[in-house]
Amino acid sequence: MVNISPIPAFQDNYIWLITNNKQAVVVDPGQAAPVEQVLAERELTLTGILITHHHHDHTGGVEALLDNWPQARVYAPASEPLPAQGAIAVSDGDHVTLPELGLEFEIMAVPGHTLGHIAYYEANGVAGEPLLFCGDTLFSGGCGRLFEGTAEQMHHSLTRFAALPDPTRVYCTHEYTQANLAFCHAVEPNNVELQKYLQKVAKLRQQGIPTLPSSIGQEKAINVFLRPHLEGVKASAQAHEGAELNENIKVFAALRRWKDAF
Ligand SMILES: [Zn+2]
Repeated sequence: MVNISPIPAFQDNYIWLITNNKQAVVVDPGQAAPVEQVLAERELTLTGILITHHHHDHTGGVEALLDNWPQARVYAPASEPLPAQGAIAVSDGDHVTLPELGLEFEIMAVPGHTLGHIAYYEANGVAGEPLLFCGDTLFSGGCGRLFEGTAEQMHHSLTRFAALPDPTRVYCTHEYTQANLAFCHAVEPNNVELQKYLQKVAKLRQQGIPTLPSSIGQEKAINVFLRPHLEGVKASAQAHEGAELNENIKVFAALRRWKDAF
């Protein structure tokens, strides 16, 4: 049975560990030391590394991990600088098979945060729940900043995520949930699902428990960046922008600008 757990790194990053309690694959190891510590404690063999985009807090540990685990396969976006020699470049529609864990990921191109950003989607998943490793594209209650791509690209990427099944577990790479929800609340003060989730998240954080993974269904209910098509979200964005926003993409772009300054 595969289980998935977060390894905290830096201030608020999560490196996701996917393991059958013998072999292990990590997603976006920005640091090697916390990964090595968990591998040693749990007597795991590192067999693979999945990379979503080129930022250092997602790739900084790759070289050091490969020094100890030279047989580990590294997968990374084809259109960004590879994090290590011998890394396998993957792009939209490619499949990454991890036979040791019985998982097969489909690659989704999700530009916006960076231009070559990819996500790893596993349709069969664990316990009937598909898996999505989305890097810095989607956060619980938020989305990545537009460092390289356009609002249009990010909106399209998030629309692809929103089309995935509701039970899909969403493994985001930062613990930004609580701050993100404050913004969602400013946009949608009357969203009852959001109010419930705010309370749940506050309790988890008080106890130091990660708020992730989230799910696609949960995010569709509370994350304003997946809700620009809704009248209430549009009205708030228009009021803040002081202009009429007659397309979803324009509402999305206004929300992103608003959040950047929030
Ligand atoms: Zn990033």
